[in-house]
Amino acid sequence: MRFSTLLVKCLLLSLAVFLTACAPGPGTTQRIGFSQSVGQDGWRQAMLAGIKRELTFHPEIQLLLRDAQGSSQQQQQHIQELLQAGVDVLIVAPSEEAALAPALTEAHRRGIPVILLDHRTSTVPYTAYVGGDNTTVGASAARYAAQLLHQRGQVVEIVGSSPSPVSEERHQGFVQALRAYPGMQVVGQVTGDWQPYSLQPDLTALLQAHPQAQLIFAHSDLMAQGASEVCRRLGMTHVRIIGVDGLAGPGNGMEMVQQGRSTASLFYPPGGEEAVRVALKLLRHQPFERENILGSIVIDSTNVLTMLQQEAKLASQQQGIEQQQLLLGTLQATYASQRTVLYGLLATLLAAIVLGVSAWRAARANRQTNRQLSRQNEEIRAQRNQIAAMAEQAQAQNEAKLRFFTNFSHELRTPLTLILGPVEELLRPDTSAALLPAQRHDLGLVRRNTQRLLQLVNQLLDFRKMQGGKMAVQAHPDDFVAFVRELVETFEPAARVQHLTLSFEPTEPTLPGWFDRNVLDKVFLNLLSNALKYTPAGGRISVAMQALDHGRVQVQVTDTGCGIRAQDSPHIFEWFYQGEQATGAKGSGMGLALAQGLVRLHQGELSCTSLPGQGSTFTVVLPRELPAVLRSTAAPIVTIERPALEEPVLPSAEADSAEASEATPLVVVIEDNPDVNDFVARKLRPHYRVRTAADGAAGLQLATELLPDLIVCDVMMPGLSGLEVVSRLRADWRTSHIPVILLTARIAPEQQVEGVQVGADLYLTKPFSPALLLESVRTLLANRAYQREHTRRQLLADQPVGEAPAHDPNQQFITDLTDIIEAHLTQTSLTVEEVAQQLHLTRTQLYRKVKAVLGTSVTDYLQHVRLRKARELLLNTPLTVTAVAYEVGYTSHSYFSSSFKARYQVSPSEFRAQCLASSA
Ligand code: ADP
Repeated sequence: MRFSTLLVKCLLLSLAVFLTACAPGPGTTQRIGFSQSVGQDGWRQAMLAGIKRELTFHPEIQLLLRDAQGSSQQQQQHIQELLQAGVDVLIVAPSEEAALAPALTEAHRRGIPVILLDHRTSTVPYTAYVGGDNTTVGASAARYAAQLLHQRGQVVEIVGSSPSPVSEERHQGFVQALRAYPGMQVVGQVTGDWQPYSLQPDLTALLQAHPQAQLIFAHSDLMAQGASEVCRRLGMTHVRIIGVDGLAGPGNGMEMVQQGRSTASLFYPPGGEEAVRVALKLLRHQPFERENILGSIVIDSTNVLTMLQQEAKLASQQQGIEQQQLLLGTLQATYASQRTVLYGLLATLLAAIVLGVSAWRAARANRQTNRQLSRQNEEIRAQRNQIAAMAEQAQAQNEAKLRFFTNFSHELRTPLTLILGPVEELLRPDTSAALLPAQRHDLGLVRRNTQRLLQLVNQLLDFRKMQGGKMAVQAHPDDFVAFVRELVETFEPAARVQHLTLSFEPTEPTLPGWFDRNVLDKVFLNLLSNALKYTPAGGRISVAMQALDHGRVQVQVTDTGCGIRAQDSPHIFEWFYQGEQATGAKGSGMGLALAQGLVRLHQGELSCTSLPGQGSTFTVVLPRELPAVLRSTAAPIVTIERPALEEPVLPSAEADSAEASEATPLVVVIEDNPDVNDFVARKLRPHYRVRTAADGAAGLQLATELLPDLIVCDVMMPGLSGLEVVSRLRADWRTSHIPVILLTARIAPEQQVEGVQVGADLYLTKPFSPALLLESVRTLLANRAYQREHTRRQLLADQPVGEAPAHDPNQQFITDLTDIIEAHLTQTSLTVEEVAQQLHLTRTQLYRKVKAVLGTSVTDYLQHVRLRKARELLLNTPLTVTAVAYEVGYTSHSYFSSSFKARYQVSPSEFRAQCLASSA
């Protein structure tokens, strides 16, 4: 589970805890319904007070109260209402229980327990009964009266009016108990309405009629009060009065006894508390008594005080309880609010714990991430250190290599200078006259290449100097125009040789300034020799010069050469970078880097713009003045090394050749380096006819045109490489037979294998000795001649020519040629031109190809095919000799016969005769 989800859940949980805590408890309240028939009289109020008092101990019980004010109909309706309200127990204090029967039956049907209070009959269903026994009360009154009057005297009874059976029961109990005392006599009975007054007239009359009456038994204390007033008015204060109810409170039974207005009161308990107790038992499903008869006691002067005190105490206790209840209520409210606060605190605590845990976990995750990051950092640092160490090592190795090269280059300078010195000496005009032209030429070659090597060595040393920050500028006052003109002029002979137009175009005649010749010399030499190197014959090189504002001078070297490819141009100023055109290994890739470094040293800028195929412009912008630190007042030491430039090729070269005879084998030399090209050509010329080409494409064209006897070809050339030239030669049946010698500086064996695979006959690695080259050419040509002779002999013997596989282009050529001749056999005038045309060759090409492959001329081969066919016809057909001659294209019989005899040493007719004889 995601931690955030857990957090949200915990927060929700604590909120739920808080809300649950604040919510009131589940619906535990139970309801007791109490229906009263009459509520106003004291006894009924005492009943209600009892109920309420008892319920103060049970705050969870709710009391629903209804007072019918004496109306049974009203009470019936109240009971229905209470049932609707969903009371759990119903307490009913009826006056006429029979009238309530339908409502109580309904309660019974609904399963609501009914407690009848004070009245009951067997006609209505009820669950329990609580109340006093009126018969006993009547009997108690009778016994007490007998005791008071010493069992003799006259008694008056005041009964309560119906409808309740109370009066009847009390009367019965009273009368029956009195029977035990014969001396006691009931002299009369008065009926009252339970109130003090209605009985008074009747009682007055009765007492006047019975002045000996000594005791009055009234069925209630209120009626006893009326009786007491009557006695007082009649002056019969000796008459004892007994009432019923015995309630406390003003005007009630106990007060009357205490004040002596009545003698005694029979306490008849209202039963409120008891009814509630039974109701509670019912609610709690505890065992209960169905009939709860409450006892009664007699209150008279002997115990009234105690009773009153008890009552007062009870009342005060009740008050105390109520106060306690109030207090309890307040406490409960306080408790509830404190509980809410507590739960709130708990919820907050829980949330705090959850947040704490989450914070701790986040911190732990953070720590882990940090640890991981620092581990990764550590790793990266280690790797970086490793890389740095490796770089350092590489740098050191590089440094060591460069040091080696530098030292090595240094070492080269002395022998090179020592070679150059004597050669220059020999080539001086006064001494060179003694030399043969070829020797002069060779020495020129030596001088040029030594200069070239020296230039490379010097560039390498300059590179080291620049890298080591040891190159310094020492400017002297000088003229820019004169300086550049001088340089341009040194390139003029070379430009002429290469058929290039070289021009110098300054805008001013002079541009004086301060500069270091030694530094700028290298810059312009590089730019000019690059322009010459990368511009083909017929191109133009111009050097423009002009003064710019802010005391600057600009020199632009523009050529119409091959230009620089887009992918090369960002790199040309990098050390050792060579562009695509430079694959002929003509350079070192140092020139421009050095030039730029030197221009910057001179506080200038070197830049280049170029369009591939159209040419390039190199622009040098220099300050005309230089700061004092770069100036030198000492005389300049000029250490210029002139470039190795092309020189006019000696015209004697061709003259030396063995051109004389057509029969001399023809060799084509394809080599892009003019020196090597010239060198190879000159070594071959005394023995062979030689033609040269400066690159692969030209060489291929030359070879196809001339069909030479052999080709010597360089491998690494710009454009078509040597390998491509060989594979194209082999793919074309016109040139497929020509032996090829590949020359290369590469020494890897796999490259030699590659050369042989494409069809080269021999692979010579540079440097090679001229003797080896000559010997190789001679051997290859001899092999070819031998092969040709073999083929020629096969032809003479009329054997099928060649053992080469069918797909061999040479074999294919022979088949094609033979097919063409045979198809036109009858055509007497079939010419070599016609055959050549059909083979898409020139006459010469056909001639050379046939000579090279078959070792014979085309005409000879034509005659050979004709005669071979004639022989076949003489052998296999009955045609006459003349007809045969005609068939194979001879118009003259005699010419056919002489040709046939010349070849087969027999005349055609003799040949046929011999054949017939041998077959006979
Ligand atoms: P490199 O010895 O190969 O000439 P440089 O540093 O002089 O070395 O030149 C770097 C590369 O820039 C060359 O290999 C070539 O591809 C290109 N380059 C320089 N000058 C020219 C030019 N004038 N025309 C065309 N390409 C040039």
